[in-house]
This record gives sequence, structure tokens and C-alpha cells, in this order.
Amino acid sequence: MKLTVLYRGPLSSCNYGCEYCPFGKWKHTEEELAKDRADLERFLAWAESRTQDTLAVFFTPWGEALIWPWYQEALARLTHLPHVERVAVQTNLSCKLDWVPRCRPEKLGIWATYHPEWVKRRRFVAQCEKLSALGVRYSAGMVGFRRFAAEAEALRGELPADTYLWINAVKDGKEAPYTPEDVARFTQVDPLFPVNNTRHPSLGRACRGGESVISVDGEGTARRCHFIPEPIGNIYAPDFDAALKPRPCSKQTCGCHIGYVHLEYLELDRVFGSGILERVPTLPLGRPPAAP
Ligand code: SF4
Ligand code: SF4
Repeated sequence: MKLTVLYRGPLSSCNYGCEYCPFGKWKHTEEELAKDRADLERFLAWAESRTQDTLAVFFTPWGEALIWPWYQEALARLTHLPHVERVAVQTNLSCKLDWVPRCRPEKLGIWATYHPEWVKRRRFVAQCEKLSALGVRYSAGMVGFRRFAAEAEALRGELPADTYLWINAVKDGKEAPYTPEDVARFTQVDPLFPVNNTRHPSLGRACRGGESVISVDGEGTARRCHFIPEPIGNIYAPDFDAALKPRPCSKQTCGCHIGYVHLEYLELDRVFGSGILERVPTLPLGRPPAAP
């Protein structure tokens, strides 16, 4: 079978301290880090054993994982498995990239988020350029706070032209709603901004979550996605495969890329193709005309 696993272990700490994020500048104890590492090792052994399947693995940590060598090694190990077709990770891209040559770069995908309060634009762009030189497919992106609009435009101007830059719409209700001018401005940077700026109706709709895409935590508990807390089973149980079956979504809406790309009716797999995890569209995107 083909199975995509979104792995999120107990790690929930970060070297950055974004004020809107609960994991910023949080530090784990040595014991907690050891537990995270042991959980990851168990997950890797499971992935290595699933030779009858075609796997894709997407690391979606609460905090920043790539500053820890055991995540770097996990990516390298997984990319070398013949039955693993894609390995992707969400990161702030603050880590050194000396581990990347140990990976098979054609299988590696990086979802890199730029945090202008924590890193200089030049340094982030230099990291992106290194990924390009290493042959790694990646997307770059930013949170779409209005106060970041000019910075997003500047980043667009400095990134390699073929690097997709996404903008994550702020939809938490804590910020004033976007004006049509805001939407037009962010859409100029990211042609897919309107897709992310929508809470897609999902209740009762077919979604690959729970059938060919699952979310897994450090204990092996599997859920259909990160947004529906009810477990569907545990990947370490011998009869786990029986838990994988079609399930209509039980939430009213789905508003996060890592979820709604699996909603069948949106057909976003046609837009993102093999770049669906690291958020790289494989269809050419028309850019809206420049504002007069
Ligand atoms: S870089 Fe990401 S995980 Fe770290 S504090 Fe900022 S938003 Fe949170
Ligand atoms: S539509 Fe979103 S919330 Fe619903 S099952 Fe799929 S990923 Fe989960």
C-alpha cells in the first residue's frame, strides 16, 4: 500500500522565540530529549520494516527539529530506503546543512519558514541558495501578518525565481481581517494565497486522512490528521493496517495546507504533485498582473 505518515513526536522546543508561538525559546530537559530521540528511533525501525509498502514521511514537529542531529540522521536514513519515496520536514532552516549530502537529495523535501524577527533575510536566502545548489526541492514561506507584507515582497525579490514562496494566511480571528488590498498584495507574492486564505468546507467530504495519510505521535498513536484528536489505532500494533479505511471528515472546515491538500474535492494533488508535502507546486502558477 501507499502510505504517507506525518510524524510529530514529543519535541516541542525551538531555538527561535516567535511571540505568537507557544514553543518559542522553550528548552527540554536532557531526559525529554532522550525520550524524543528514542521515540524517533522506534518510528524509524517501523518505517524500515514496512518494505511491502511505499512510504512518504513528513516531519511536522511542534518546535524545531533540524537543530538536533538525530533528526538530520533520520532524514538521511529514510531517503536511502528503497521503499521510501519522499521524506519532508518543516523547519525554520536555522540549522547547518552539512548533513544534507548524506541524504539522497532527490527524495528530500524541505518546507522552510522565514521568521524575519529572528534571522536576517540575507542569511535565510543564503540557506535557500545552498539547498538549490545541493539539488533539494524546497518551498520557502512566511506567516501572512500584515506587518510582514513588505518583507514578503522583498524576500520574493531575493529568492531564486523558481523557488515557490507561500504565505500562510492568518485566520485565527485575533488579527483584523484582510482587506481586499491585503489579499491582492499577498496574492502578488503567492498566487495560491487565496487557497490558504480559505477555510475549506470539509464535513462529510472525502479526505485521504485516515486511509492513505496518517498522523503519528511519539507513542505510535495514529490519527487521521493533526486536526482530529480521536485515535484510529497504533502503528506498532500488529493489526494496525485494518484501521486504514475511507473516512469522511468530521470537522466543519479544514484551513491548514497540511490537511486540506488531502481533501479529495479540492484536487490539490494535481497542483502540487510529488511536491505536496514540502508545498512545492509542480504545475506552473500564473502570477497575477502587477498592480498599476
Ligand atoms: S520558528 Fe516556528 S516553532 Fe520556532 S518559535 Fe517560531 S513559529 Fe514556533
Ligand atoms: S479534511 Fe482536514 S480535518 Fe478533515 S480529515 Fe482531512 S485533514 Fe483532517
